[in-house]
Amino acid sequence: MDFGWSNDELAFRDRVREFIHTNWNGADPEEGDGDESGAWERTRAYQKEMATHGWLTMAWPKEYGGQAASFMEQMIFAEESALVGAPGGAGLVGPTLMIHGTEEQKREHLPRIAAAETVWAQGYSEPGSGSDLASLQTRAVRDGDEFVINGQKIWTSGAHHADWIHVLTRTDPDAPKHRGISYFMVPMSTPGISVRPLQQMHGAHGFNETFFEDVRVPAKNMIGEENRGWYVATTTLDFERSGVGRAAGVQMAFDGLLTSLKQDGLPGGRTLAGPQRHQLAEWAMEGEVGRIIGYRVAWMQSKGLVPNYEASMSKVFNSENLQKGARRAINILGFYGALKPSSPHTVLNGRYCQSYMSTVSRTIAAGTSEVQRNVIATRGLGLPRG
Ligand SMILES: Cc1cc2nc3c(=O)[nH]c(=O)nc-3n(C[C@H](O)[C@H](O)[C@H](O)COP(=O)(O)OP(=O)(O)OC[C@H]3O[C@@H](n4cnc5c(N)ncnc54)[C@H](O)[C@@H]3O)c2cc1C
Repeated sequence: MDFGWSNDELAFRDRVREFIHTNWNGADPEEGDGDESGAWERTRAYQKEMATHGWLTMAWPKEYGGQAASFMEQMIFAEESALVGAPGGAGLVGPTLMIHGTEEQKREHLPRIAAAETVWAQGYSEPGSGSDLASLQTRAVRDGDEFVINGQKIWTSGAHHADWIHVLTRTDPDAPKHRGISYFMVPMSTPGISVRPLQQMHGAHGFNETFFEDVRVPAKNMIGEENRGWYVATTTLDFERSGVGRAAGVQMAFDGLLTSLKQDGLPGGRTLAGPQRHQLAEWAMEGEVGRIIGYRVAWMQSKGLVPNYEASMSKVFNSENLQKGARRAINILGFYGALKPSSPHTVLNGRYCQSYMSTVSRTIAAGTSEVQRNVIATRGLGLPRG
């Protein structure tokens, strides 16, 4: 078994590092201390720079604005980006359109995503439908060549910045719940859409409630067939659960603490005790395992395979590792680690205080840990549903 990188891949990694080093200025909306709008502007400017260099959608075909690069190159870019907290590539709707979209839809939307002209939000969850997503109630009713949407979405990340939203609706209330759902693309500027912010405990405004009141959308904006939108949505979810970003986030948090401990020791002049060393050793081991699980998913994609329970394994293991890392850092740094970035006594710019709060959501977003374990148990291990 050879887990090494080819010379070409190593050279590519160097080029990626150089690009990120030159262009990324460290803005990270998730880790910010309330300065979310400025961070967002910096992130957008960086994404435009990525698009100019063809990094944003590098594995897409050239005709849709990509570079036809390999999945492994795309993964290397995503990994190097996540190691410094930079955005790694275009979101979820593009890859979904690539599989389920019509040629007209692809030509309309993919080049604009590749050029960082359009930003998308994901309208799936509702106040009564999260883990049991197929129970969603937002209605879309046909009216000639249009559908009229009424209902509410919640936890809509970035809806306050988005130009478009991809949204799941119920088009047949009498069908079994998975078979009456249709998937639409809707411009956020459509009359009848309103967005209300939800403030998070670490100070950022990442997500929102999104309301639809008599929102008219052309029927041609449906992705996939009417009432078959569930199967399109699961494609999007598999993409969302894949990716090496979480594993790289674990590594970034670990490296940051280890470097600081080696350089400056513990705050308050304390010495590193045995149990703290063991926590770091555990963290190193689990980080390595998570990285290999993440690589496996990317490798499957590069071979044209569709990771499913494998993506869930990567998601649950690495998102739980992110939380464990934040807890370990606070344990090791003591009260200094729990101080906010604005405190004069904080260490490492308060990053572990921030991640202690922000990583809570990582085991919930894109499907909770319990849901991922259900997927692994049923689709991975072939166990009957409980
Ligand atoms: C940071 C963040 C960003 C998000 N962004 C978006 C977004 O952009 N768009 C969007 O549509 N949604 C988004 N979400 C919502 C996310 O998808 C849901 O929060 C998630 O699916 C869980 O749904 P819920 O919150 O309704 O919890 P519930 O489904 O009500 O779950 C509550 C608890 O019950 C457990 N549970 C439920 N069902 C089962 C079961 N069958 N077996 C075992 N345990 C179960 C859950 O694991 C959980 O612990 C985001 C969430 C977060 C935290």
